[in-house]
Amino acid sequence: MEWCLKQPKIELHAHLNGSARDSTLLELARGLGERGVVDFATIESVIRKNDRSLVECFKLFDLIRILTTDHAAITRITREVIEDFASENVVYLELRTTPKKNEAIGMSKRSYIQAVLDGLRSVDAVDVDFIPSNVNKANSKKTLSINDNGVTKTKIFVRLLLSIDRQETGEAAMETVKLALEMKDLGVVGIDLSGNPAVGEWDTFLPALNFARAHELPIVLHCGELPDRLEEVQEMLNFYPQRIGHAIFLDDEQWRLLKLSKIPVEICLTSNVHTGCVTTIDDHHFIDLYKSKHPLLCAPTILGCSRPAFLANIILHPQHSVLEGKKCLRWERLQLTTYLQMKE
Ligand code: 5GP
Repeated sequence: MEWCLKQPKIELHAHLNGSARDSTLLELARGLGERGVVDFATIESVIRKNDRSLVECFKLFDLIRILTTDHAAITRITREVIEDFASENVVYLELRTTPKKNEAIGMSKRSYIQAVLDGLRSVDAVDVDFIPSNVNKANSKKTLSINDNGVTKTKIFVRLLLSIDRQETGEAAMETVKLALEMKDLGVVGIDLSGNPAVGEWDTFLPALNFARAHELPIVLHCGELPDRLEEVQEMLNFYPQRIGHAIFLDDEQWRLLKLSKIPVEICLTSNVHTGCVTTIDDHHFIDLYKSKHPLLCAPTILGCSRPAFLANIILHPQHSVLEGKKCLRWERLQLTTYLQMKE
């Protein structure tokens, strides 16, 4: 486990509010509880629960949204999430988050993302590189690479994906895509479609997704998280996104098409088991995809990483080009190979 923690890693499937520290969520809930905005005891019991079904996860996300949708909380959570990933030696992090509006406190989608960027700038413990190298970095906080004790700071590269939540309207999704395009120079590298898979129809967001594609913004789709959405899975595969997340429930023909397409899959091993979408790690589809040499972004949580389900999807895309530390790729292959050997 210690060896695992020490290895440089790439994390490509992290949801900002899904990665917030429990202690921070509880502190925020306590504050809101004291002001009578939320019932602290209810929130505490939900946050402290370990294994949650997919339905319960999305109930939790709705609660988290109440707790975190203010600028200061978003800035704080971003800073802590970066510190946590860096402490596990993640060297490249793609952090995704849904820009949210909260008119009561003057929050717009833009100011939400500004709060995230403030969080990136406020990290002091490590050196955060979030402005792409082809951009004038005057915009970013000048980070010192040496700390007060004369020790070189660890560096973490961070890029952002803006998420469209399936609860949103098509117009709201378009606003998110336009914001992402405006913020390319601030490290926004793509669009994600996520949110409760039981809610809404994915084609509500097609105009926004097509607009993103027309402007060369890469797209990641959460796909196949429920058994009764095969038609949607088919349409998503036909859409041919840059990556898909989860890919649990596909029919035989769709598995064949997926493998043919070589669309990289973000595998979320422990998440899928904790939420009950996959019975055990041994039944997980990653083994078949791995043996088929399908491009995978996969989680080393298989080796017993203790972080909760949504927090530790440390993953690999063999053709990933942004990454500078090539060692990560070798490490990930090693992890998967080790796992397969352990099974044999
Ligand atoms: P946020 O976008 O607020 O920073 O991160 C939390 C959000 O990410 C959740 O409200 C939900 O929309 C999305 N999310 C987190 N985990 C999952 C997942 O496993 N599946 C899907 N479809 N969405 C997720």
